[in-house]
Amino acid sequence: MFDAHRHFSSAKACANALYATSKTGEWGRLKGMHHPSVGGIGALPEKPLPTAELLYEYVSKQADLQIAEVGLDRRWPDAEAQQLFLLEVLDIAYILERSVSLHCVRRDGLLLGLLKRQGKHLPTLLWHGCTLSWESAHQASRMGIILSFAPSLYTSALAREGKRLVTLRYALETDYALEMEEPYEAYLEKHLDAFSELTDTSCDTLIRNNDEIRAILTNQPSAR
Ligand SMILES: [Zn+2]
Repeated sequence: MFDAHRHFSSAKACANALYATSKTGEWGRLKGMHHPSVGGIGALPEKPLPTAELLYEYVSKQADLQIAEVGLDRRWPDAEAQQLFLLEVLDIAYILERSVSLHCVRRDGLLLGLLKRQGKHLPTLLWHGCTLSWESAHQASRMGIILSFAPSLYTSALAREGKRLVTLRYALETDYALEMEEPYEAYLEKHLDAFSELTDTSCDTLIRNNDEIRAILTNQPSAR
């Protein structure tokens, strides 16, 4: 099954997944990646942000690279610099036709407003680790944003929407990372089963949906 958002672990990055990065130190690992793995170049404000020019240089040289993950995070300072960087990256993605996986912590309204102001000049967007309120999730979905649900969904209020969740445009992701102890395959499987139960949707349907999302994110026609 395609995993719409995960991070590197100590194992070789060869899963059918979009591998997101959060700092420039990880970008080198995106070079030798092969199908079905997809590389995502990103930077989070936890570390000093790189210049958008540097990101552009990498993305323009690698045709199969997506942008994952970038965004706004209230836990880290300089909200203005975060917004400026994000706006520049959105422009780069729009021009180079790459998808962008968004990271957002306690800046939901700000991010939705910022995206709305961009109007039609938006690349394909995925809201990673979505735990928005139903109203905001619905609003994001209407804007064409793919809502990506990680296991963090289950402890959020949004999980109470149950079956309604699959009426939005969605994807499933593990957000798996190096420090996790559970084996990756088991973690993915457990998430798939839990989401299937929560939304009363078959695993086959969920897998097919994620394949379609993969095609959208990578701008490739679906294999079906
Ligand atoms: Zn992530």
